[in-house]
Parts: sequence; C-alpha cells; structure tokens
Amino acid sequence: MANSRVLYWFRTDLRLHDSPALAAALDLKPECLYCVWTWDPHYVYRARVGPNRFQFLLDCQNDLSASLTKLNPKQKLLLLREAPQTLFPKLFKAWRISHLVFEKDTDAYAKDRDETVTRLAREAGVEIVVRMGRTLYDPDELVKKCKGKPTMSVTMVQNAGKQIGAIPRPTPAPTSLPDPGDTPLDFEQEQPAQQPDINDIHRNDTEKSYSSGISGPGSDFAPPTLQELGLKPATTPHRGGETIALRMLDSIIANEDYTATFEKPKTAPTAFEPQATTLLSPHLHFGSLGVREFYWRVQDVVSAYGRRASQPPTSLTGQLLFRDMYFGAQATLGYSFAQTYNNSHARFIPWHLPSHISPDSRLITGGYAVDSPTAERWFQRWKHGRTGFPWIDALMRQLRLEGWIHHLGRHAVASFLTRGGCYVDWERGAEVFEEWLIDHETASNAGNWQWLACVAFYSMFYRVYSPVAFPQKWDKEGKFVRRYVPELKEYPVKYIYEPWKAPLADQRKAGCLVMGEEGGTEGEYATYPRPMFDFAERREVCLKAMKNAYKVGLYGNDPRVLDGSWRKL
Ligand code: FAD
Repeated sequence: MANSRVLYWFRTDLRLHDSPALAAALDLKPECLYCVWTWDPHYVYRARVGPNRFQFLLDCQNDLSASLTKLNPKQKLLLLREAPQTLFPKLFKAWRISHLVFEKDTDAYAKDRDETVTRLAREAGVEIVVRMGRTLYDPDELVKKCKGKPTMSVTMVQNAGKQIGAIPRPTPAPTSLPDPGDTPLDFEQEQPAQQPDINDIHRNDTEKSYSSGISGPGSDFAPPTLQELGLKPATTPHRGGETIALRMLDSIIANEDYTATFEKPKTAPTAFEPQATTLLSPHLHFGSLGVREFYWRVQDVVSAYGRRASQPPTSLTGQLLFRDMYFGAQATLGYSFAQTYNNSHARFIPWHLPSHISPDSRLITGGYAVDSPTAERWFQRWKHGRTGFPWIDALMRQLRLEGWIHHLGRHAVASFLTRGGCYVDWERGAEVFEEWLIDHETASNAGNWQWLACVAFYSMFYRVYSPVAFPQKWDKEGKFVRRYVPELKEYPVKYIYEPWKAPLADQRKAGCLVMGEEGGTEGEYATYPRPMFDFAERREVCLKAMKNAYKVGLYGNDPRVLDGSWRKL
C-alpha cells in the first residue's frame, strides 16, 4: 500500500523465517518499516524470569537485530523500554504510523494487552494487521472446532485440525527490507515503576534498576545487558537466537533416522552432552524458530522415510501437537487455566493440610495430607536440590543451573513434588519452573504440571515414578547424578541412587557423609542430606489421599472451592 508507515511489533516471533505476520507487513510495501520490541513491564516485573531466560531473550534480540541490519544497514531492532499500552499512542503520532502489525498471541494476559492496544490504534486511526504463526493451528480455531471445549488430548487436536485444514508451509524469510523512518522520541516518557520483589533473588544489589529511560542509555535502542538490568549473570550453556536455532534444526534434520524414528518415551532423561531430545523448546518459546518450519522440515523427512517412521503422539511432530493441545486448552480457559481456582477442568485436591483445619473435618483430605510447615520444608528442599534423593536433586540442580531438563526429568520432579511424594500443590512447582526454565511457556507449563499432578489431562495417579528404580533404567552407573551432584561423584554404583544405604566406611572412602538436611561439609568430608522421607511410605500415603480426593470429586470451579467451604466437608 503506497505511503504506508508500518510499525512491526516483535513479541513471540524473534525471527525472520516462517513469519506470516512479517510477510503481511512487507506485503503492505511500506514506505518505511519500524521493527520494534517494547519492554513490557508484565514480562520484566510480574512474570518470574530468572537470568537464564533473560539472557536467552537478549541473545534472540541481538541476533534478530543483526539479521535485520544484514538485510538493510539502516535497520535494527528498536528496543523501547515502556509498556506498549502507554508507549504506542505516542509512537503512532511521533512516527506517523499507518499500520501496526504483529503475530497473534492467545495467552490470557496477551489477549487483554492486545485488545487495549488495538483500541488505542483504532482511536489513532492506525490499521491493525494480525497473523497467526506461533502454533501449528490457531488456538482460537481449535476452540471453535471443539465447540468451546478445551483440547484435553492430542486426538482432539488432530480431529479439530482435520476440520481446520492442512498446516500451512512456512513463509520464506525476506531478502530485503525497506528503511525505517526517523525515530523522534521527544514526547513525554513514562518512567517504569521500581523493581518488584519477585526478581529480587536474581538481582545484583550493586547494580541499578534496569531502566534509565525509554530506549536505554544513549538512546541507541539497543538490547541491554544482564548487568545493566541489574541481574546476576546467566549460568546456562544454552544460547538464543534464530541463527543458532536454524543451525540446530539443520543438524537434527540431517540425521534422518533420528528425525523419522523419534519416540519420546524412548529418549533418555539422563542423557547430557548431547541431550536425547532436540532442545528446541526455548527457541519455540521466543519464536527464534518457526513452529511450521520445524513441523514441515520433520514431516518431509518422515514422508520420505516410509513405514518405519514413528507416528504422533510419540513422534517429533506429535510433540508439537502436545504444544498445540495446551495452547488450545489455555485459549478456552483463559487466566484460570494456569491455576486450580475457578478452573472447570482442574480437579481440586487439598494438597496439604492448612493448620486451621481440625482433625475431625478431614473428609476431603482423608486425613492423609501433611501439615503446612512440613510441606513448606519439603518444598524448599525440593526446590534447592536437597531432598536426599540424588536423582531428584540432580534434576533440580540442572534446572536451576542450565534452565532446561528433559521431559521425563520434568515428569520425575513434578510427580515427586505432588502426588508421588511430597503432596505439595502443583502450582508451587509450576512457579519454580516459571522462574528457572528457559523455555517457560504458560500454556505448556501449567498444562504439563496438571498432567503430572493428575488434576487434568491424565488420571492414572497410581503410576508413580520411583526416584531410584526409574533413573536406574536409563543410567545404571549414575553418570547424570555424578555430574550434577558432584559431592556423590565417587560413590559406588551400588549406592549412587541410595547413598544413605552406604556403610560409613564407603561414605568416608567416597569423601561424602550422608547426614543432616542441608549438605555442606563435616571436617574433611563433604556432606549430602539424608532422604527427607521414606519414599515407599509416602507413596502409599499419597495414593490413599489421591483416591480420596478423586472420590470426593471437586473441581476448581465448584462453589465450595470458590467460597472456601470445602474445608467444612
Ligand atoms: P522435544 O522432545 O524435542 O519436542 C519438540 C518440541 O515439542 C519441544 O521443543 C516443545 O516445544 C514441544 N513439546 C514436546 N513435549 C511437549 C509437551 N509435553 N508439552 C508441550 N510441548 C511439548 N515445555 C515448554 O515448552 N515450556 C514449558 O514451560 C514446559 N513446562 C513443562 C513442565 C512440566 C512439569 C513438564 C512435565 C513438561 C513441560 N514442558 C514444557 C514440556 C516438555 O517437557 C518440553 O517441551 C520439552 O522437554 C522440551 O525439550 P525439547 O525441545 O528437547 O523437546
């Protein structure tokens, strides 16, 4: 369209390839194109974002900015540090914008934000162009085809998908870009609020707050550094950016056997360097990899491979359908999807016994739940990798250090925290994942936690992961534990998953004594905590409690849950 001045708003799509929204922006044949990222306070302040995910985001922004510059030396990613809801009306005017273009986002907060921005754009006479590109199917379309019901299985997604039509092939990356226009910023700036508490543990107290103005120091619109944001340095070895993502995808696709015969349950959660699955999840989260690019590159290998190729749901394309399933469910349920309260599809389970509940009003808990202080203590030990079960501790330490763990590792720690050990609320665990995962995706995180806690999607609560027998199946020698719990490095194979059973002489010989709750040192020895409970005993208690909760059969939107009267049951 002649004379169009387009503001392209990058959010969940930090890439040039496979971007229907960017293609739509360029179809407008703009006279000028502004490529903008707004530093949404919701992300900076309200969400729990640890330094590892922040670093991944900054990597993606820097890589994207460099790619934009390669296509046109005048282009780069313009990073603006203000909420879009207050920033855009000023930009529309100052930069004389005619069109605002972005990729559709069906997350609950994003929907609210985008509705506001759309209204503001209309008021300013700016045309809005929105395109879906984040998932294989538009989650809103899945909802429609499922008649408003949440997608609770991959089969539901497949059936709805058949009605929607073929998954589109990816759009190619642009080969050139128009110039941006002038970028005056001489309007009144909103100063972002001060730091919230939520990220305090990540903040480096000696550093200043993250912002010093709308576009950062020097007004060069550049992505900041973690140091400038006042965050502790990242510890993850996994780096972000479209360039890396496409390279990773290339090397996966080059291995046709791996790509075509991938079966998730057969991949080892104990594998590291290299891990057993693709590790493309953080790239899908930030959109540094297009999901349709991923899907079609894999599908083309599968189609050529013939009958020995694996099939959904366990195949690689099946994994992407799980992702769509959780996005579809979230699009139906909105904010309540990420919690039990008011969630019509999440079973209500009184995970631990609040101290004000008297022992004779325990119909609903069956009398099996632990008291709150114990639950809190177990939760903290789980979070910090000090449960005394080396398999669980190794996974939690890998998660904190690197920001990614294998899917079955996530199964193990989530089941252990909830219905297979501690009987602590899944929402507490989901919060830790939100903070530490580099691939944290609200829909996938909440949905998978519900699955593992057996509150939705899955109900076989009697299938519990043993923290000893399960890892032994994959890694008899305990290489994974030795890597992430280095104090146990010298333990004999026989005791690597149950160090508390090692005779004292063996403990001394291995240089690590099993004692206390904290770990640390004792004289010349390192120490590793005793297990925080007898797992076999806890498994029985949890099974009885889950059976009872299923029998009572409350859901998150039951009036007795909403008004708290479940406590009197
Ligand atoms: P691959 O096995 O290579 O799969 C390819 C892609 O398919 C992944 O990159 C991912 O985008 C998608 N995928 C695979 N399995 C799932 C699944 N079960 N649910 C949704 N998408 C899937 N995944 C996230 O992307 N973000 C999360 O916040 C998240 N939280 C989780 C929490 C728990 C408790 C559990 C059990 C799983 C969670 N997952 C989450 C799903 C899954 O564990 C990761 O997507 C996967 O391990 C990422 O590794 P990968 O890229 O090597 O996966």
